[in-house]
Amino acid sequence: MERVYNFSAGPSVLPLEVLEKAQKELVSYGSAGMSVMEMSHRSKAYLEIIQEAEKLLRDLMRVPANYKVLFLQGGASQQFAMVPMNLFVHKKADYVKTGQWAKKAISEAKRFGEVNVVASSEDKTFSYIPELDKSKFNPEADYFHITMNNTIYGTRFTKLPEVGNVPLVTDMSSSILSEEYDVSKFGLIYAGAQKNIGPAGLVVVIIREDLIGHPMEGTPTMLDYQIHAENDSMYNTPPTYGIYIAKLVFEWLQAQGGVAAMQKRNEEKAALLYDYLDNSSLFKGTVVTKDRSLMNVPFVTGSEELDEKFVKQATAAGLVNLKGHRTVGGMRASIYNAMPLEGIKTLIEFMKKFETDNK
Ligand code: PMP
Repeated sequence: MERVYNFSAGPSVLPLEVLEKAQKELVSYGSAGMSVMEMSHRSKAYLEIIQEAEKLLRDLMRVPANYKVLFLQGGASQQFAMVPMNLFVHKKADYVKTGQWAKKAISEAKRFGEVNVVASSEDKTFSYIPELDKSKFNPEADYFHITMNNTIYGTRFTKLPEVGNVPLVTDMSSSILSEEYDVSKFGLIYAGAQKNIGPAGLVVVIIREDLIGHPMEGTPTMLDYQIHAENDSMYNTPPTYGIYIAKLVFEWLQAQGGVAAMQKRNEEKAALLYDYLDNSSLFKGTVVTKDRSLMNVPFVTGSEELDEKFVKQATAAGLVNLKGHRTVGGMRASIYNAMPLEGIKTLIEFMKKFETDNK
């Protein structure tokens, strides 16, 4: 069967070149005579893979030397707990509530201390990024948390909050490696892999070294950043195959010209789709223009019936996973790094035809 254009929010499309390389190496990797899946994580061949993955990610994101890069498990959701468990000293943190994932992060942090929600966009179904009033920030907070890109609602932060000396922590699950970020502005970045990095299950954590080493009492060993940092993400068996695929994706990214080139491409891809939406008489984007995501583009027709018909016909035409998140309805096109420009063009052509057919 031919491959479809997969607009899934995650797990999502991977570069075809990466899948083909993995396929070639599946049964026997290099001169190892076995699959990466079958290798000891302590073997020389595997150590080269994980070390190269880290090196590539450091290069791609220009990670400063005083940051650790960790490959962990438990998805981004486990970080909702690991962050407070490791960063709480005064047991106080500031959070911006910009969607379901931010809400989950907030409720998890509340189990361990006091959360100050400095702003929220819940009043308008999270369709914008709220203005931040600095007088509401707690200068004594252990950290300040934002969700960089809101996968479900299709919004993103385009400027960072001015947090002074309070460490800025971000959930970058759905925008990591899609545009350039200055890592030195953050205390901690975490990202589930299943959008721009690789298979689900793996989570990448980039953490400034001074934030490591004072977990709350009773923090389980596996949830202590220090343990993972001291053991180079090898305290226990890491998700070896996921890290291998991540390495292939990082190599692919470098071959594309790195994050700056990817950002340019993503801006072009998103602009095409948003321009079409802005001029369509049937489809409408649901997000305030200035806060639009480059990765997740939600839209509606205004009629649930037509939305359903659209998703069904699109699926039949090989444009799949366009149904919006169950909490918002409508449609959502997730157009991560690996979605080719051709996929966007094909989607727009399909939408135009649907628009004409349903006048
Ligand atoms: N944060 C964001 C922004 C997400 O988009 C997601 C998943 N779609 C998560 C957290 C949760 O990730 P996981 O399923 O890996 O725990």
